[in-house]
Amino acid sequence: MVGNWPRSVIVVGAGIVGLSTAWFLQERGVQVDVVDRGGVAAGASWGNAGWIAPGLAIPLNEPAVLRYGLRSVLNPAAPLHVPASLDPGLWRFLARFAANSHWRSWTRAARANLPLNDECIEAYEVLAANGVAAPVVAAPITAAFRTPRQAESLLRELRRLQTVGQRVDHTVLDGGRLAEHAPLAGEALKVGVRIDGQRYVDPGAFVHALGRAVMRRGATVYAVEVDEVRTDDRKVIVRSAKGTVLSADAVVLATGAWLPRVAAQWGVRVPVRAGRGYSFTVPVDRPVPGPLYLPDVRVACTPYQGALRVAGTMEFRDPDAPGVPARLEAIIASARPLLEGVRWEEHTDVWVGPRPVTPDGRPLIGVTARPGIYVAGGHGMWGMAHGPATGRLLAEQITTGKQPAALREFDPLR
Ligand SMILES: Cc1cc2nc3c(=O)[nH]c(=O)nc-3n(C[C@H](O)[C@H](O)[C@H](O)COP(=O)(O)OP(=O)(O)OC[C@H]3O[C@@H](n4cnc5c(N)ncnc54)[C@H](O)[C@@H]3O)c2cc1C
Repeated sequence: MVGNWPRSVIVVGAGIVGLSTAWFLQERGVQVDVVDRGGVAAGASWGNAGWIAPGLAIPLNEPAVLRYGLRSVLNPAAPLHVPASLDPGLWRFLARFAANSHWRSWTRAARANLPLNDECIEAYEVLAANGVAAPVVAAPITAAFRTPRQAESLLRELRRLQTVGQRVDHTVLDGGRLAEHAPLAGEALKVGVRIDGQRYVDPGAFVHALGRAVMRRGATVYAVEVDEVRTDDRKVIVRSAKGTVLSADAVVLATGAWLPRVAAQWGVRVPVRAGRGYSFTVPVDRPVPGPLYLPDVRVACTPYQGALRVAGTMEFRDPDAPGVPARLEAIIASARPLLEGVRWEEHTDVWVGPRPVTPDGRPLIGVTARPGIYVAGGHGMWGMAHGPATGRLLAEQITTGKQPAALREFDPLR
């Protein structure tokens, strides 16, 4: 450390959040190395829906989700599933989530997210214009519904977001216009809501391109699982169980749904749990001009490598547990009656990944109880969108020692 300014940083976690932080630290002249137990994009940043969608970044902790979650405890086919498990940590987390599932806490989270929403597209554009060779595609996201009443519940949520200051340019579409915008929408879908000004990416391709850019700028990516982080008078030391030892002036823990495993010992008490989702790829016989959202069954569809990536469900289960085939079948069963021209039987590329969910809808970004040890994670449903803006703000804090106003609500020690 020269003065109060870290010259070298180890980033643990090579997902969108960790690699964005690494890239923006390098931009500020910091020597960075990255450590990930599975290599680049080994966690949630691989198989997600890839929506960079500030107009839809609705915090999870709304009262309806709680009611819905409680009803779904015993139904493994429900889009939100809480297994009837004996894990006391999970029940403590759910109790805190329940305590935050009211409009005051939701509004606080929605307001706190505004700066991340404001900056998210621009932060992607900065990366793409400066050597991260992966497309960021501009397209509206079209939500589709069976009935106007169902559409009204999304419109209500969008109005709430607008009330807290989020710009949401949207248009209601009748059945004919819905079919023009979303040729996959089947006969059952009669109403659409088009949200303009959004972006989408192929998340795995983008994060790998980001990883290559970070390496070109001098970082080494170590395939190592970190077990312990500690400090001595001058350095932060990162160790693996297998004996790898790395040291630097500071460390950023960006380990997604695994964040508490190392961060808890540094005073981070807000729990992060894995809200696991599934995705797969299916061939389609109709054009897919942009992302398609089926809110009633909570399924997100994105153009992906000439086919369609279908993503959905939220199950609170250990991030390392194997995938549950019934969850995938539940996604197909719920979306099949709504879409046409999708060859469901030919699905491939099945994936399960853990959204890092906090109980209050706000991520954890900033310094821990120990100077030199930072965390960045817990972005839940919207980490792909918010990762680059997070990395830019945290790099500013690390290299100036001042917490940007935009990070105040994300204090990891709250
Ligand atoms: C089905 C689904 C759809 C989604 N769709 C969207 C979307 O459309 N838009 C959006 O914005 N977000 C979306 N998300 C959420 C988004 O994927 C996550 O919020 C985001 O990827 C989190 O990024 P991260 O870098 O924090 O975590 P991760 O990508 O999970 O990265 C954490 C990394 O840390 C590593 N790691 C963990 N522990 C250790 C350790 N001890 N030592 C070394 N390495 C370690 C892991 O291997 C992993 O690579 C979706 C998620 C899912 C599951």
